[in-house]
Amino acid sequence: MSPSNLTKIFQSARKYDFIAAGVIKTETIPAAVLKKADFLEEARSLLVLAHPYPNKPRESIFNSELDIYLSRYARGLDYHLVLGEKLKKLSAEVSRFTGKVHSWTGVDNHPLDEKRIAARAGLGFIGRNSLLIIPGIGSMVFLGLIASPIDIKGKPLAVSLKPEDNFPSLEPGETSRCKNCQLCVTSCPGGALSGQGNLTKEKCISQLTQQRGYLEHSQLRLIANHFWGCDDCQLVCPYNSYNNSLSDWNLPGKIDPREFLQLDYKSSIFRDISRYPFSWRGKRVLQRNMLIVISNLKAGNYHSSVQELSGSPSPVIRYYCGYYYYNLAAAGNKWAADSLTSLLQQEKEPEARQRLAVLVGKLKEKQE
Ligand code: SF4
Ligand code: SF4
Repeated sequence: MSPSNLTKIFQSARKYDFIAAGVIKTETIPAAVLKKADFLEEARSLLVLAHPYPNKPRESIFNSELDIYLSRYARGLDYHLVLGEKLKKLSAEVSRFTGKVHSWTGVDNHPLDEKRIAARAGLGFIGRNSLLIIPGIGSMVFLGLIASPIDIKGKPLAVSLKPEDNFPSLEPGETSRCKNCQLCVTSCPGGALSGQGNLTKEKCISQLTQQRGYLEHSQLRLIANHFWGCDDCQLVCPYNSYNNSLSDWNLPGKIDPREFLQLDYKSSIFRDISRYPFSWRGKRVLQRNMLIVISNLKAGNYHSSVQELSGSPSPVIRYYCGYYYYNLAAAGNKWAADSLTSLLQQEKEPEARQRLAVLVGKLKEKQE
């Protein structure tokens, strides 16, 4: 690829609000990774693009007095859609500059490890918080890829696209530049970070809110008020001092937390929720997460919505209704204790029944 074509690509990428870009030969991507990516068969190189998301505090999406936490990246329109659209447009422009067709684009919807590829392309390094950190920009970015049939000569190349910069090169390297800093490691509520750039999924709130099914009691406590995601290890990071303010990242309207409990794929509210980046996880996980949060926050005024949901066909959801009753009962609510007992009596599914029985046992212990 000629340097002038690369400059044109970088100029176009900036037009679509990308904030850093790199290009890397596909042959430098480990064979085991490439094997899972047949869509890269024709590709000779990959363009790696970073797009910021607004990282300053923004209004809650919840129409509620409760302090329900939603990760900052998830407070705007679904990035899969927003970035997907921008990547397709950029890909078409790249084809025009080079005279060759670029077809595949990807945003977090493929088996490639985007952050490691971005680090290898020279956009930044993997920090102790296990995220890609772009010097001068930070980690609050979404990553996108464009497959290209074009050969590039020499080493990978990455540049900053910050509006105030004139495409300065970013230094390639996967080596951590955290130096003596341990802020993310010591601030992580679950102790999930090893300090070597790895993360234990079972101890990470962000991972737990995406996991399906039953979670252990200690994990439910760890989740606290987090409906989706956790930003603690990013908010303390000194590399995140860059202000990513974007005006065109429109927010869908506010949502009453009860609407998550009543989610129905056919309802208009589900159509609203489907515009948020967490909607891919489906209604059961979203219902479960809201049940965990209102339980941990001991929100007694959700009683009738939970009662309705306790007739759900999903034993997992029925169990989390029991977790709600358990928390309120432990805070002294008699009706919640009665509701938990009656839920256990009605439950037929063995695992849900066994877990509900544990909650009833725990409650008895507390009351003695
Ligand atoms: S997202 Fe939260 S829980 Fe997960 S590693 Fe970061 S600080 Fe820890
Ligand atoms: S908080 Fe410190 S240790 Fe953690 S990723 Fe940032 S610079 Fe590295």
